[in-house]
Amino acid sequence: PDRQRDFAADVAARLRAAGYQALWAGGCVRDALLGKTPKDYDVATSATPDQVRQVFGKQRTIAIGAAFGVITVKGRRGAGQIEVATFRKDVGYSDGRRPDRVEFTDAEQDARRRDFTINGMFYDPADDHVIDYVGGAEDLAARVVRAIGDPEARFDEDKLRMLRAVRFAATLDFEIEADTFAAISRHAEELSAVSAERVAAELVRMLACPGRRRALELLAQCGLLEHVLPEFAGRPEAEREVAMWTLDRLDWPSTAAALAVLTWGALPRVVAEMTQRLRLSNALAAAVGWMNANADALAAAEDLSWPQLQPLLIAPEAGTLIDLIEARAGGPTAGTLVCREKLALPPEELNPAPLLDGTDLIEAGIAAGPTVGRLLRVVREAQLEGTIATRDDAIALALAAAGRG
Ligand code: ATP
Ligand code: MG
Repeated sequence: PDRQRDFAADVAARLRAAGYQALWAGGCVRDALLGKTPKDYDVATSATPDQVRQVFGKQRTIAIGAAFGVITVKGRRGAGQIEVATFRKDVGYSDGRRPDRVEFTDAEQDARRRDFTINGMFYDPADDHVIDYVGGAEDLAARVVRAIGDPEARFDEDKLRMLRAVRFAATLDFEIEADTFAAISRHAEELSAVSAERVAAELVRMLACPGRRRALELLAQCGLLEHVLPEFAGRPEAEREVAMWTLDRLDWPSTAAALAVLTWGALPRVVAEMTQRLRLSNALAAAVGWMNANADALAAAEDLSWPQLQPLLIAPEAGTLIDLIEARAGGPTAGTLVCREKLALPPEELNPAPLLDGTDLIEAGIAAGPTVGRLLRVVREAQLEGTIATRDDAIALALAAAGRG
């Protein structure tokens, strides 16, 4: 059972019973018409935020977005939340990002403030009816992303819409309508008005979808790529081709993997600049950085000693990186075959428990400090090579190495 859907129908029914118009709006209508299960449902209504709160009660609503006309209604167990937005039009847009203020209005005006025709439809769950003021159904059938109204003006208002156009084209496998595309081409450099977080959020969604190669091609064609991913845009054509080819061969959606492909062979400094500029999470930045730093080593794993290879193989991104190396090489390589063979070892062989830790060394008489770390590495290496096997061996080796060191 689709609890979100039932809840969204219930929210609309309760608003209607209270005398207001209430419709499903935007992305959920688009997805439902495409036969996809919507991620979430948005309700648009003639009720003002105060009236919405009266209908559902203060307990069940959150009013954080009330100034923009949005009230969040909390569902019962498992039903999630629904955003109920008063029909509105946006006024001002003096910063190229968001409206200066909103004015409450009717459904038709609310449709016209939306970004693309495919996102501008309403659906009335009471009578199973699509309400389309903007030609969205036609464009959905023709698989076209078209700005509502004058594309120049719409991208001028909110520069992020340019990236959203590419994202919807890539994720839905739609074309961008010619005038819309031309307007993006003319305004591409204005993308700098958009915050790094919002750019990154769109980019991540493009790279995680199966159409990511097409997303990158569209970004390049309309001139956005150099503003979104200058690190990639500036690479030699042949490098970009190999990267695109590699991306095409990857059939799982991982943003870290995609970014690692796009920065393959780039200097670590360049990768760090990219992850900082996009304000990626620490985890994502670390994963991309690790893959960038260790790709060459793993690709030539057959030349590494076991103590050199083992720490790479137990890293969390090792499996992903091996897949990437194979995708780029067009199949398994001598290095990746060695990696896969080792990864198939029983866990206690792949990653045996250490024979001792720093405290053991200090108890054995080694002074706390950098020497402890160095000796632990010596001992670990010997353990992995198989030259020592017990804690006593390890302490003896450490003391001997301390004497030499
Ligand atoms: P998804 O949730 O899959 O990203 P969506 O269409 O639901 O797709 P949201 O960002 O959730 O996109 O926005 C909901 C709706 O709000 C959109 O369908 C669109 O009608 C409108 N909208 C969102 N962002 C903008 C924008 N920047 N400019 C104009 N309208 C927008
Ligand atoms: Mg949505």
